[in-house]
Amino acid sequence: EVTLRLTGVTKTYNAGTPAAVEVLRGLDLALTKGEVVALVAPSGAGKSTLLHIAGLLDTPDGGRVEIAGADMTGASDHRRTVMRRDEVGFVYQFHHLLPEFSAQENIVLPQLAAGVPRAQADARARDLLGIVGITPRAHHRPAALSGGEQQRVAFCRALANSPSVLLADEPTGNLDPATSDTVFEALMTLVRETGMSALIATHNMQLAARMDRQVRLEQGRVLPA
Ligand code: ADP
Ligand code: ADP
Repeated sequence: EVTLRLTGVTKTYNAGTPAAVEVLRGLDLALTKGEVVALVAPSGAGKSTLLHIAGLLDTPDGGRVEIAGADMTGASDHRRTVMRRDEVGFVYQFHHLLPEFSAQENIVLPQLAAGVPRAQADARARDLLGIVGITPRAHHRPAALSGGEQQRVAFCRALANSPSVLLADEPTGNLDPATSDTVFEALMTLVRETGMSALIATHNMQLAARMDRQVRLEQGRVLPA
């Protein structure tokens, strides 16, 4: 079962001007359910562009993006927004948690926005916090949590609405090596226990080696690492 499929995706910034930058040149990539794939790319190779297109934050010039079996070619903004909310989770290097809300509330809010009843959203948040091992921190605000704890909350929030695909950009990039390791293990456990698939961009080759598969982004295409 394929959760994310990119076929022949092309993207050029400033097309038709002297400043044109051809970033993606017919990129093909497919993630199957339960798979964790490392995306390894030098800076400037187009990693953010790829993640933004895969996550429906940006549209390709050509090619096709399919999420959870749905072809998003020509989809309306509304449909893209709904798909992004329900089927895609994002994790960034910096977590962007809402500072005035507790860990638990940060995980509950996206569920309420998606129409999940409060009691069910609370139960889901507690389950997720349990999986990443920070149940005792549920009612703390982000400022009262360590960097690693904050990032684990961000993972839980990204997975709150049970998306088909998790997209992560250097999710442990701002953590020290030991914390990075714990947080990475928590992420792997979450992905496995929720049965989603994940595309994780990283410069950390040790972490990349622990994922199911590595791909390299080079010259606008994806190659086996
Ligand atoms: P990465 O995330 O791998 O560092 P990006 O996807 O951010 O790469 O960028 C790929 C290339 O596209 C870079 O050369 C970058 O300068 C260029 N680029 C990215 N965004 C824009 C934009 N909005 N306008 C013009 N060029 C861009
Ligand atoms: P980086 O650490 O690579 O700078 P950012 O966290 O700034 O990454 O996010 C990368 C891009 O994703 C930015 O262009 C930002 O506007 C966009 N972005 C970040 N968070 C969200 C979000 N929740 N929804 C939509 N776009 C987002």
